[in-house]
Amino acid sequence: MDLLVVGDGVDGVAAEAAAIAGVHRVRIAQDAGFLTQSAGAVVPILADLAEGYTHIVGSAGAVGRDVFPRLAARLDLMPVTDVVAVLGPNRFVRPIYAGNALETVVSGQEKHLLTIRASAFRAAAGGNEAVIEPVDHGDVTTLAKFIAAHRSQGDTPDLATAQIVVGGGVSVGSPEGFKLIESLAARLSAAVGATRAAVDAGYAPNDWQVGQTGKIIAPDLYIAIGISGALQHLAGIQGAKKIIAINTDAEAPLIKLADVSLVGDLFEVIPALIAELDRL
Ligand code: FAD
Repeated sequence: MDLLVVGDGVDGVAAEAAAIAGVHRVRIAQDAGFLTQSAGAVVPILADLAEGYTHIVGSAGAVGRDVFPRLAARLDLMPVTDVVAVLGPNRFVRPIYAGNALETVVSGQEKHLLTIRASAFRAAAGGNEAVIEPVDHGDVTTLAKFIAAHRSQGDTPDLATAQIVVGGGVSVGSPEGFKLIESLAARLSAAVGATRAAVDAGYAPNDWQVGQTGKIIAPDLYIAIGISGALQHLAGIQGAKKIIAINTDAEAPLIKLADVSLVGDLFEVIPALIAELDRL
């Protein structure tokens, strides 16, 4: 397996990539034009390199969703997106109907373009020393104009890979109310998630949204606080190994689905939980 690192000033990333078990060679392409990783800049180099490979795999994150459809059109191939399991060289499992069913795609194409949901796979081991080779590429040009990048600051774990996620719903009631969710998360070294209703209400930032149109998470533990359990939210948490739901409504779908359910008011339960954790 070869790994392509595209960016500028990314020697450190290439060195990290070379240490990943199973990597045969790291190919590195550096240019200021790659900094934004826009599809217009990245697709030409991928298309040039594609000839030597049967499988071209990327992450099903924002960059993958931008790059792979364009690459597929360029190579006249059908991409298989959001893969959660690989059953063979041409058999891939992916969710459909907002994660309510899984389909197995058997591809008859000679070359496979896949985007992978990283949260569905175990992290690879380290300790490798793959060779790092620069890739020749022409001028990097793109019609897209980069205006600004807004990245959230903070030292909370990444939602997509966190072992524990604490999620809050619209019933938290305000951005200040969300501080309660954040302080529980901080005590558990957990990432913070939110429903779309909470995000739309302005209580939580957009990149905390979990679900069909947000992040897909697969933590060991998901603590859902004041979240009803709409299908679109459940689509994002199906990889969670254990779920604790806290809700005033004993009939809420997530209360019924959770491994541990606590029927109660979040404004009483969470401060009590925090006080208990602080006593430990
Ligand atoms: P509600 O459904 O209003 O539930 C609030 C819950 O809080 C209730 O169960 C209530 O009993 C409980 N509650 C109230 N007060 C308290 C209290 N004091 N203590 C404890 N519990 C309390 N949603 C997502 O989350 N992610 C997505 O990616 C997403 N994508 C969508 C895409 C589309 C195309 C559409 C149409 C919708 C999408 N939604 C998504 C929205 C989704 O349908 C729901 O509206 C949303 O998930 C509901 O959020 P909620 O659970 O915070 O709110």
